[in-house]
Amino acid sequence: MPNWVVHSKWTDKAKIDRSIANFVNQNIDYGTEWAFTEEARNIIDEEETNTSRQLKFFYKKDLEKQYSNEKMYVKAFYIHHLLDFLKETRLNVRDLDKIFPKFLNKKVQSEIIDENGDCIDFMNEINEIFTLLKENQNELIEDLR
Ligand SMILES: [Zn+2]
Repeated sequence: MPNWVVHSKWTDKAKIDRSIANFVNQNIDYGTEWAFTEEARNIIDEEETNTSRQLKFFYKKDLEKQYSNEKMYVKAFYIHHLLDFLKETRLNVRDLDKIFPKFLNKKVQSEIIDENGDCIDFMNEINEIFTLLKENQNELIEDLR
């Protein structure tokens, strides 16, 4: 994974509060909090992926905090996994347009089913982050070295 200085730099760029970003980064890398929520314990589907559990957990945080009505926790979640994915795969970051679909295919999902059975889609947040990375491509390449 990129170190947290890099993670924090990009969540700063996305205007995500540091306390939220740190919470998300810690919980993803050393995380346990999301794994022990009541929902997680009640989950019948053992096959559910960790990233799916994380996403549901962070989405709930956003609903609780209503931080300027934006999904800051969810955005920080996507930034974290996207940076990790770019670092791990060493794909050519010049080809971000080709990388994004791969990221959504292999690494994370773009939607969840909430407690009421409603489908919640995060494509707006994801596209916002994609745009941010594309606009700062050279800096991104430096950071992933
Ligand atoms: Zn990580």
